[in-house]
Amino acid sequence: MPEIPGSTINANCKKCDADTPHTVLEVIEGGKRIGKVRCDKCRDEHPFRRPKTAAARPKSKAVKPARPRRPSKSRGPGEIPAEEAWRQVEAMVQAAAKQPYEMDKSYDKGEVIEHPQFGVGVVVNVLSPTKVEVLFPDVRRKLVCGQQPVH
Ligand SMILES: [Zn+2]
Repeated sequence: MPEIPGSTINANCKKCDADTPHTVLEVIEGGKRIGKVRCDKCRDEHPFRRPKTAAARPKSKAVKPARPRRPSKSRGPGEIPAEEAWRQVEAMVQAAAKQPYEMDKSYDKGEVIEHPQFGVGVVVNVLSPTKVEVLFPDVRRKLVCGQQPVH
């Protein structure tokens, strides 16, 4: 599965001496591998290290993705502007199979979608069963999904 800058992933943090949720700051080889990450707990930035407990999953629901309405210049250090994140994965995204975006579908991290209004984007984070964060060439947007009734 391709990795997208801005995604939340589980990684090992030496400072915390634990597996913690991290924000992907950089991907390499067009999203095939994770470069730098930032610990969401202690804010330490370091190269990605696999979590020691493979089954551990990020627990925090308080992760706040960057709000798309603010210009990228005003973001704090460590937040990757959407344009920069897009550049890192553009080749992979363009080469990937694209799913038409529909509100009643569910999407996974790394899936490439084609939105009728916003164009091609890639799912950065699954925020909830009905909301995904999608990276477009100039901005991140939150889109609703999975709107069908659950049985
Ligand atoms: Zn840490």
